[in-house]
Amino acid sequence: SEMATMMDVPVTKIISACMSLGMMVTMNQRLDAETLSIVADEFGYEVEFVNADIEESIDRNVDAPEDLKPRAPIVTVMGHVDHGKTSLLDYIRKENVIAGESGGITQHIGAYGVELEGGQKIAFLDTPGHEAFTAMRARGAQVTDLAIIVVAADDDIMPQTKEAISHAQAAGVPIVFAINKIDKPSANPEKIKEGLAQMNLLVEDWGGKIQSHDISAKTGDGVKELLEKVLLEAELLELQANPNRRANGTVVEAFLDKGRGYVSTVLVQGGTLKVGDYVLAGQHSGKVKAMQDERGNNVKEAGPSTPVSVLGLDGAPQAGDKFNVFDDEREAKTIATKRTQLQREQSVRTQRHITLDEIGRRIALGDFKELNIILKGDVDGSVEALTDSLLKLSTEEIQVNIIHKAVGPITESDVLLASASDAIIIGFNVRPMGNARQIADKEEIDIRTYSIIYDAINDVKDAMEGMLSPVM
Ligand code: GDP
Repeated sequence: SEMATMMDVPVTKIISACMSLGMMVTMNQRLDAETLSIVADEFGYEVEFVNADIEESIDRNVDAPEDLKPRAPIVTVMGHVDHGKTSLLDYIRKENVIAGESGGITQHIGAYGVELEGGQKIAFLDTPGHEAFTAMRARGAQVTDLAIIVVAADDDIMPQTKEAISHAQAAGVPIVFAINKIDKPSANPEKIKEGLAQMNLLVEDWGGKIQSHDISAKTGDGVKELLEKVLLEAELLELQANPNRRANGTVVEAFLDKGRGYVSTVLVQGGTLKVGDYVLAGQHSGKVKAMQDERGNNVKEAGPSTPVSVLGLDGAPQAGDKFNVFDDEREAKTIATKRTQLQREQSVRTQRHITLDEIGRRIALGDFKELNIILKGDVDGSVEALTDSLLKLSTEEIQVNIIHKAVGPITESDVLLASASDAIIIGFNVRPMGNARQIADKEEIDIRTYSIIYDAINDVKDAMEGMLSPVM
């Protein structure tokens, strides 16, 4: 019946169209995706599946300003491999927690909270690196308030340092630099700060606004001060949440434990999660049977910015899935089922991400103002030359942004960034490496490779001119 109304045809015609497919249906029956597509096609329509209705009904937490209370920042640690991300997270986990608690943090649950001497709290995501950060963002989860980017002072600003910076910037997340390994005789923090300045990232010592601190993740030197700077930076963000309502948040990790069943670590972002709550997380649901903190203690409640591992879901949701609490177990279960169904339907859905060919159509719809580009090339000179030329293509209507540029092949991380930021990838004399092509196909990310600068510029220009042509 709904379909008949949408297409403006008598409902009997739809029923007979279904009959010709061998299906006896009633007016009020829900049709599956395939049937919907076939029947619509009969009448000259194309089906596009949108999951807005159920999702909108879920995120209905609108908090009154007077209900909001300050909450702790949620921090991710990123940086080049071997520069000390894990060491820093380990040091904070073991040493910097408030005295008197039941010892250090023993459990690896994907996130942990620490309390500093002054009583302020910080929650850390315990998966170092920008891959996890951006993978979550690509799934629509913005969890991190602030990024610590670790740079080893006995090394240089490396490709992954630059990547991490781009990823944080693309997410609009403020950065605090941790210049690490200052216990080493070969450490030269000033050289790193100079390098950052050359990238237009002026740290405080250099007269800029970006916080940075020299540390040793090995001896712990400077870590306390680093965390104080993180808190200072977080204060500017005025992070708030309403603790007095049903909880919502994001799944950080989940796995099946032989003895205990599915264990999901979630980060509460609003409200308070309680034992006994009915939870929906991604495509799974269930009643919270028990909760544990990162110290292995059973807890009954978890408020905003608190990570907890939860027992009781009927499956393992994916990192980056949102969770919500429901009054009614059945409602949570129904939506979980609907989501599973929608996901199946969506695997036949049309593309989500931007491609050069699509720009014209999107601008006609009026929802396209920025063209985000990730640029990879074989030598620095051509990357810079292309950047300049592409940026110059910006017009009053469409802004061209180079959200990340680097020398090197197109990596998985580039594809994830493109997916999270709705960008296209341009490779100049470089190709996708490893799984990058596969993931790009799956995520429907447009990768264009060129060996002539002029061709790359022309393609982008043509696409943009297409989008600027008069809309009929
Ligand atoms: P990640 O790949 O960024 O997570 O780096 P790790 O934390 O695994 O550190 C890489 C190596 O550097 C390890 O051998 C660490 O012991 C060492 N390391 C990390 N931080 C420091 C530090 O502050 N001083 C010294 N001397 N070594 C460090």
